[in-house]
Amino acid sequence: MRASSPIIAACSLVAVLGTPTFAQSGATPADTANDPIRVLVSRLELEKYKGTIKGLTQFGDRRQGTKRNRDAVDWIEAQLKSYGCTNTERIKYEYTPAQQAQRAPQPQDSAAMAARRAAAARNTQGSGGSRLRGNRGRTGVNTDSLAQRDPRLRALNAEPTTPGPREEVYCTKVGTTRPDEMYIVGGHMDGHGWGEAANDDGSGSAIVMELARVFSSPDVQTERSIRFILWNNEETGLNGARAYVEQRQALQGKESPAGSKKYPEPKWLGMIQHDMMMFDHGMPRADGTLSPEQRPEADVNIEFQSNSKMSEASQKLAWALHAANDKYATDYPAQVGPHMTNTDSAPFQDIVPAISLRENERGREIGAGWDPHWHQPTDVYATFSDKDFRLGLNAAQTTLGALGQLTGATIKK
Ligand SMILES: [Zn+2]
Repeated sequence: MRASSPIIAACSLVAVLGTPTFAQSGATPADTANDPIRVLVSRLELEKYKGTIKGLTQFGDRRQGTKRNRDAVDWIEAQLKSYGCTNTERIKYEYTPAQQAQRAPQPQDSAAMAARRAAAARNTQGSGGSRLRGNRGRTGVNTDSLAQRDPRLRALNAEPTTPGPREEVYCTKVGTTRPDEMYIVGGHMDGHGWGEAANDDGSGSAIVMELARVFSSPDVQTERSIRFILWNNEETGLNGARAYVEQRQALQGKESPAGSKKYPEPKWLGMIQHDMMMFDHGMPRADGTLSPEQRPEADVNIEFQSNSKMSEASQKLAWALHAANDKYATDYPAQVGPHMTNTDSAPFQDIVPAISLRENERGREIGAGWDPHWHQPTDVYATFSDKDFRLGLNAAQTTLGALGQLTGATIKK
C-alpha cells in the first residue's frame, strides 16, 4: 500500500488532536472558575507561608531534647488550634540514644587523609539507590557553637540535648463520608546545626501547618480524613515517625468507642512528607561555590522508593501529585524520582504508599552538597529570598491540590 501524502497525514493529525476529548467521551470540560480545589489553593499565600516559617525560627534550631524544642511543639499546637484544627493530640515516646561506641584512633597523617578524600570522590553511590554525578559540595552537621556568628542565636541554641521523654503533635481533619480513612501529611519540626532550621525543616513544617489552616476553614469539607503531623526526632534517625508507626499501626480503621462513628486511627491511605522545600540553586560549581540565586529551572522533587514493598502504589501517588502540580502550582514544576530516602516517610514505605517532597533529590543532589545551608549556622530565615520561599509555596500548592482531589474536598456555599 502506498504511503499517504505527508500533507494529508498532517491534516488528519490536526483533525484528530483538534477534536475535544470531552465531545467523544460525553464528559463536560472542567469548570475552572468554580473548581473548589482551585479556590482552596488560592487560600495559600506567600506572606502567610513566610510568616509561619518565621514563627518556627523563634525557637532557633529546635534541637530535640531541649526546652526550645518543647516550646516549639507547644507553639505549633497553639497555631493548629487557632486555625480551627482543634482536635490536637500528641505522640509520646522515649528517646535514649545508644552509647557512642569507643572508636579506635583514626590515622591522622595527611597522606592517609588525602587517600580517604580521593576514595570518597571516586565513590558515586548516593543514598537511597541514587548515583552521584558531577561537582560536589561539602556536607555535614555543624556542631561548633562558634561557627554561629550571631550571639543571639548562639545563646538561643546553647542548651545541649538530653535523653528522655519526647512529644510530637498532630491534628486531624475528619472526613464526612469516610472518616475511617486518611492521608497523613508530615514535616519534621526538629533541626540542628546552630541556625534556625528555617529550611530544614521549617519550610516543610510550615507547609503542613498552612495546609491544616486551609483544610480547617469552617466552609471546607472533605469526604476522607487528613492528619497533619509535625514529627520530632527526625534528625536522630526518624525516631518520632517510627514511634508513630509502632504505636498506631494496629489501631487503623477501628471504631472507638463502638458505634460512635469515631476512628482514632483511620486506615492509612498514604503518607506525604515535606522536608527542605526552598533552596534549588543548582549543582555546585567546580570550586564548590553555588549560584546565589534560585535557578530558573527550580522544581519540586517528589520521590518514592523503588526498593520498597509499596513501590507501585507509592509511584502512583507521586504521579497524582505531579498532575496536581501541573494543574495548580503557579511557578515551579515537579519531577518524580525513585530514590526516596532519609526522611519520615521511610517507616511507612513498606506498609502504605509513601512519598516525600523536597527542593532537590535527597540522594543524588542534597547528598552531593547542592544545599550549602543544610545543617549549618546559615540555615536562618534571612538567608532565603522570595524566590526560595516561593518554591516552598509551590510545593504546598502541589500537595494541597492533590489532597483536595484524593479526599474529595468541597466548599460549602
Ligand atoms: Zn530534614
